[in-house]
Amino acid sequence: MAAWAPRLSKSRFQAGLQCPKNLWLQCRAPGLADPVDETRQAIFDQGHSVGELARTLFPGGTLVEEDFTQADQALETTRCLMRDGVSCMYEGAFRYDGVFVRPDALFKEDDAGWTLVEVKSSLSVKPEHVTDLAIQTYVLRGAGMPVTSVRLLHLDGDYVYPGGPYDLGRLFTLEDVTAQVEPFVEKIPGLLRQFRSMLAGPVPDVRIGRQCKSPYPCAFYGHCHESLPEFPVTEIPRIAADVLDSLLCDGHCSIREVPLDYPGLTPAQREVCDVVQTGEARFAPRLREDLSGLGSRIHFLDFETWAPALPVFPATRPYQSLPVQWSLHTLDGGLRHQDFIHSDRTDPRRSFVSSLLGALGAADGEADDAPIVVYTDYESRILGDIARDLPEFAGPIAAVQARLFDLHKTISDHVQHPGFHGSYSLKYVLPALVSDVSYEGLAVQSGSIASLRWQQAVYGGAPAAVSEGILADLRAYCATDTLAMVKLYEELLRVA
Ligand code: SF4
Repeated sequence: MAAWAPRLSKSRFQAGLQCPKNLWLQCRAPGLADPVDETRQAIFDQGHSVGELARTLFPGGTLVEEDFTQADQALETTRCLMRDGVSCMYEGAFRYDGVFVRPDALFKEDDAGWTLVEVKSSLSVKPEHVTDLAIQTYVLRGAGMPVTSVRLLHLDGDYVYPGGPYDLGRLFTLEDVTAQVEPFVEKIPGLLRQFRSMLAGPVPDVRIGRQCKSPYPCAFYGHCHESLPEFPVTEIPRIAADVLDSLLCDGHCSIREVPLDYPGLTPAQREVCDVVQTGEARFAPRLREDLSGLGSRIHFLDFETWAPALPVFPATRPYQSLPVQWSLHTLDGGLRHQDFIHSDRTDPRRSFVSSLLGALGAADGEADDAPIVVYTDYESRILGDIARDLPEFAGPIAAVQARLFDLHKTISDHVQHPGFHGSYSLKYVLPALVSDVSYEGLAVQSGSIASLRWQQAVYGGAPAAVSEGILADLRAYCATDTLAMVKLYEELLRVA
């Protein structure tokens, strides 16, 4: 009986570089993979749109249209194109040494050789792009394509869209990465031998670690992490990869079992372990001082944004976070709520900032100077972008920025709690300290899903009633963010 031979592809090769167990599971037990979540799918879709647009930079090429389920037909179509003397091709199919690749673009510079182009929707060249191009170069050369130049095409974050058709030469940056790719190409035969030998054996014994999230979120994250205890050592914040590996190797899977003098832990990490082991929250004396300085009239503010890879409005850049929604709770004896959500396809920035300044009593001639509590410096950064893009609002925006108070910084400076699970994200801090507000039951429960839903409501082409339902869900989510801050503030004042 013939030996089992795994089918390898560019993405499987990349998976093997990230973690041998990832590759083994992809080939031998793909059913254990996590379902592809909506955010991940949206990133794939966005990459696809960017790739299609990028092709127009290399005009006159032929697209090999067969999809990933039609590998043999795609190989045959590519062979026919090569035989016919094509000089530019998109999504051609090649197989060599058991590895299948579909290069984004290939074009003939001259009779000497071909240029390989990979399109990424990122803003720079990353190490994983070099290995991605190296495996493609190896396969193409093996399949008889003399690749002499290797380039990565990515979006340029400094491109300011002037409106009208894109200036593709400025929207994209084409970087020659041949010199970075060549040394890695030489390593590929050895790596493929290692992968095949590993795949012929039992599942490799790989401990969880940084590689589970980097450079890509591993598809088997849930499978490998499901048996971890309640306070896994992976929750120790900013733990070095070698210290995490050493803890796991020594059998310390739970923070509860970590010796406080364990080598390599920072003082802050030891304190996190100590707090989990004692089970007691700690509130520094400075907490009350910081919070009571806010006074009796306080605003609580949160933004939601949308960051399309390809700029949609003039004077915006790739991935610029455009503010589309704000929520504001005001504590002033009682509690009032106001909000805003942009709901059409016009540039949201002007209506967003005008309505916000009015609600904060910060428009020209008004003089509300109450502090504005936010969670992280995100709101300040978005306001800074608006001031840069709409200079007529720069003065009032600077006045608002001067009133911001970062509750995230105060909590991370002065509070330790076992229920934070090593994170100061609002989604962890809130349930640890407050019981009467939660995100449970909301249709939207995270900022990334909020952004996706806003795009669906405004650009998705759904019936008006569906869009209105999504916008109502978004308002409920953003209002929960600001109400959560109010409750956190009140609870922290009570316990400080
Ligand atoms: S979750 Fe981590 S250990 Fe498990 S396969 Fe993925 S990268 Fe490897």
